[in-house]
Amino acid sequence: MYDVVVVGAGPAGSTAALQLSRKGFKVLLLEKHTVDRDKFCGGGLADRTAELLFKIYGSEIKEVFDFRVNGVVFESPSGRRLIVEYPPEKFYSYLVVRSKFDSRLAEIAASEGAELRENNEVVRVRKEGDRIISTTRNGDEIESRYIVVATGSQDKLGEQMGIAPLSTDQLALCWGFEEDYDTDKVFKLWEREVGIIPVFLFFGPVPAGYGWVFPKRNRLNIGMGTNMDYVKSPQKLFRNFLSRVINEGLLPRDVAKFKVRKAWPVPFSNVPRKKTYSVEYRALLVGDAAGFVHPVTGEGISMAIESGSIAADIIEKAHNAGDVKVLAEYEKEWWSAFGEDAFKYGKLIASSMYKSKTVMEVGLKALMRDEEAVKRLVVLVSAKKPNYTRYFYEYISKQSTLKMLFSSLRAPKSIKYRAEWQI
Ligand SMILES: Cc1cc2nc3c(=O)[nH]c(=O)nc-3n(C[C@H](O)[C@H](O)[C@H](O)COP(=O)(O)OP(=O)(O)OC[C@H]3O[C@@H](n4cnc5c(N)ncnc54)[C@H](O)[C@@H]3O)c2cc1C
Repeated sequence: MYDVVVVGAGPAGSTAALQLSRKGFKVLLLEKHTVDRDKFCGGGLADRTAELLFKIYGSEIKEVFDFRVNGVVFESPSGRRLIVEYPPEKFYSYLVVRSKFDSRLAEIAASEGAELRENNEVVRVRKEGDRIISTTRNGDEIESRYIVVATGSQDKLGEQMGIAPLSTDQLALCWGFEEDYDTDKVFKLWEREVGIIPVFLFFGPVPAGYGWVFPKRNRLNIGMGTNMDYVKSPQKLFRNFLSRVINEGLLPRDVAKFKVRKAWPVPFSNVPRKKTYSVEYRALLVGDAAGFVHPVTGEGISMAIESGSIAADIIEKAHNAGDVKVLAEYEKEWWSAFGEDAFKYGKLIASSMYKSKTVMEVGLKALMRDEEAVKRLVVLVSAKKPNYTRYFYEYISKQSTLKMLFSSLRAPKSIKYRAEWQI
């Protein structure tokens, strides 16, 4: 008999397991694969993510950060470039390799008391009185008082508790590769073309989404993502995207040999899930299983970690009160921690900016010479302060369409800022 069973050892599950163990609960963390499973992910840590990691896991977690970039480049559908250089003392901007990152988080949870069982998929959940019984694929039945569902975007357990699954309008598909590569060859090109070693975000290669090129120390992570409903001819879209980046001189020609190796759904757009807890099943949903991914950026690691931590607090509260109904407070807590900012203001931004290629083109061009808008955009993509989404929205929603159209006509081919701003 465990106090809590946590299902899924991604960042959300490991954080919930760690925080619950620290509170003295008997915790079992179950992972379907091994903790070093290879999840397809850009592995970009927003500044808020790095700060949460330092706070919860300690600064030693830095050992698994693979690479640090010093800026970001946004490219419009027609190839206009907004280049922003990050002064290292102001931005973290780390990237991780997920297999190494996720296994370290799970190891830390286990080292602080959570029992970790790999290769244990939970296939069924039922309740018996005030106990929850999780059945694994190999037939084990495990009893607990509470359950944390941290199973990612393809969760199957929530439905068994009467929680509607993510529908296609709440999911994007991402596809691409992460391959070993001599990145020095790439960095020479980037020094010449943009003068920094950044992450690149390309608007235009897919409708309602973007393409990216993220460098790791010895790897390249290249992909694209768009709403499920728009995914047609993904291989062709990817080849066109790769050719565009190569032809612009941003990647060596031989990168064209890499093919799409992975595809993965991610909660996107109309998120989160309608319900993220069940009092009846003594369950809280965290991370991607709850649909906690930013509707503009697709960033989800920070919310996975934060929701895992909030879930631990709420379970402790319910336990101390001896009242399972306290679990319902979870929604109020995550809404005030990150929900309103990401899902209210994020959706407002996403619903305009991902409307069409023309909007992405005009919008990015209009921002290029507006330093205040660029500053706020950088705060949004790096999640640099509380209410980072609202900070961008409040400025951009006050700009008149006519003024933006006019500014876009005067946009330069390329413009570069150094992010020295007071944020
Ligand atoms: C292509 C792509 C790029 C992305 N890039 C970024 C990025 O750069 N930065 C960022 O912040 N976010 C990014 N995201 C989002 C980010 O990957 C997710 O938000 C994050 O991984 C969510 O963590 P999680 O712990 O909720 O779920 P996951 O990391 O998906 O972990 C869920 C775990 O549960 C396990 N599991 C599932 N079902 C069961 C079961 N029944 N029993 C036992 N175990 C189970 C799975 O094996 C898995 O290990 C990206 C997503 C995609 C798809």
